[in-house]
Amino acid sequence: MNENEHVTAASSPTVNVTADPQSPSAEEFAISLPLFSEAIIETRSLSVGFSSTLVLDAITVEIPRGGVTALIGPTGSGKSTLLRTFNRMHDRVAGFQHEGDVLMDGTSIFAPGVDLLTLRKNVGMLFQRPNPFPMSIRDNVVAGVKAHRMAKKKQFDALAEEHLTRVGLFDAVKDRLSGSPFSLSGGQQQLLCLARALAVAPTVLLLDEPTSSLDPATTERIESLIETLVPEITVVIVTHNLGQARRVSSRTILLQTGSLVEEGPTSALFDAPSNEVTARYVSGQFA
Ligand code: ADP
Ligand code: MG
Repeated sequence: MNENEHVTAASSPTVNVTADPQSPSAEEFAISLPLFSEAIIETRSLSVGFSSTLVLDAITVEIPRGGVTALIGPTGSGKSTLLRTFNRMHDRVAGFQHEGDVLMDGTSIFAPGVDLLTLRKNVGMLFQRPNPFPMSIRDNVVAGVKAHRMAKKKQFDALAEEHLTRVGLFDAVKDRLSGSPFSLSGGQQQLLCLARALAVAPTVLLLDEPTSSLDPATTERIESLIETLVPEITVVIVTHNLGQARRVSSRTILLQTGSLVEEGPTSALFDAPSNEVTARYVSGQFA
């Protein structure tokens, strides 16, 4: 993972590789780093089950680095299960079992020695229902930063302001940073959770129907924020909203009853699907 951490750091906006004429072009840069892989996540014949129920059936798919990938499909098709597998959220679920593999930056997430805390720092997650921690708004934002000892205590206030500003929430909460997050609206709570997720500088952000319980204005804000996250952060978003998948993603994966139906560029899936099931799903004929 170290080489790829290096890649991420070097391609972050704070290091402008193209501004300096002495520095390599993007192409030279990629060539000089042979381990740089186009796919940040790869599943290889991944099957997941809970006790005797098979939920994902031999899924082989790649999530390209630096883009937004939408995961769509009818209720119960396994979208959340696939997403949660990416940061090993099922580890403690009774009866969980898997076959096949998930590679993150070329390394199996199930390999011995993989540190779960590090994996979850690199692979952040936002759920359908916002889940602020029972602590102040400010402490919520820096909770991960503290846990991973990413900054000194005296930097916490500035970090909280930076990330609340990034998600457009700072003005609304600046007078109650010490107050409870549960006094915020659902949409504001979700933005707070997004600020918390971003504060630890993840390389991947998993969004599980992040706007399905939100008002249109917050939905729009989150959709436009997603655009600003790439390419530094790779985003995978589960959505029931086909319009949202079209708007925010460049690639789409369609699941049905635990199987991969089709995946490819979003425009291809929606405008020229190669599978009849896809054609029916994207035209809203079953949900
Ligand atoms: P989706 O997000 O596409 O609606 P899920 O991934 O949540 O689908 O669920 C897919 C299937 O897996 C469902 O039939 C669900 O009941 C089952 N499932 C999910 N999590 C568990 C679990 N922890 N134990 C047993 N079955 C589960
Ligand atoms: Mg789900």
